[in-house]
Amino acid sequence: MPELPEVETIVRGLKNTIIPCKIKDIIKSDYTLRINYPSDFVKSLLGVEITGVNRISKYIVFATNTHNNIVIHLGMSGRLLLTDSSPTMQQNKHDHVVFILSNGKSLTYNDPRRFGLITLIQSDKINMHPLFKDLGVDPFSKEFTPKYLKSKAENKNTAAKSFLMNAKIITGVGNIYANETLHSAKISPFKKVRDLDDLEIKNIILSIQKVLEKAIEMGGSSLRDYVAPNGIFGNFQNNFQVYNRANKPCFSCGGHIVRKLFQQRATFYCSKCQSDT
Ligand SMILES: [Zn+2]
Repeated sequence: MPELPEVETIVRGLKNTIIPCKIKDIIKSDYTLRINYPSDFVKSLLGVEITGVNRISKYIVFATNTHNNIVIHLGMSGRLLLTDSSPTMQQNKHDHVVFILSNGKSLTYNDPRRFGLITLIQSDKINMHPLFKDLGVDPFSKEFTPKYLKSKAENKNTAAKSFLMNAKIITGVGNIYANETLHSAKISPFKKVRDLDDLEIKNIILSIQKVLEKAIEMGGSSLRDYVAPNGIFGNFQNNFQVYNRANKPCFSCGGHIVRKLFQQRATFYCSKCQSDT
């Protein structure tokens, strides 16, 4: 499943390659994705100018010169392909929407498992839309402060790892990055968040940003005309400190990396520098 760094990489790449341009034509398959397309999807986008590309949580949001935003989520297996040709028909049976752009490029949404979505949301209503209204703060936003995190952690019996992965508190931190963040902050995944001190809260913030930024940096070069959908992109998997490193030595302290199934998710941590005591 694509995580935040992959989506951010796609957004940064698209900003550089397709802004500004107009949607000249749209080819759409008859299959539905996770939610139905609006009935006027094609009609309301023809001739429209794409003026910006942004990320909200793990959604890709295209601003346009109309009141509509185009909102894309990659689901489990979705990917966006940017090509130089202008096809007249679907090239692949898993291609669901092809935007033919005025700059001679085509942007194709391909999704074999169809858990992703493409929809239109009015720009002034996006924050109140059911997809977005319950989202917590973005790890790169100015609202992501020690004060905010402390207020969410106070008196909570939740384990640190579940806390980081709760999208109502922080958006976009999946299993891989929760593991990596806690190792970087030297905090046990099982530590109750009510017991985190001020320094640990601050370290969590710095570590999330550091780990995600590194992943974005390493994935940056993978966006040329093809966007990998595997959730681990570029070379970041070679940079994991704990994830998928069970029984190997910790790079920071030489301790032993442990793998445990915690709340049905693979949890990796160093038994020494992330000790709970
Ligand atoms: Zn260690």
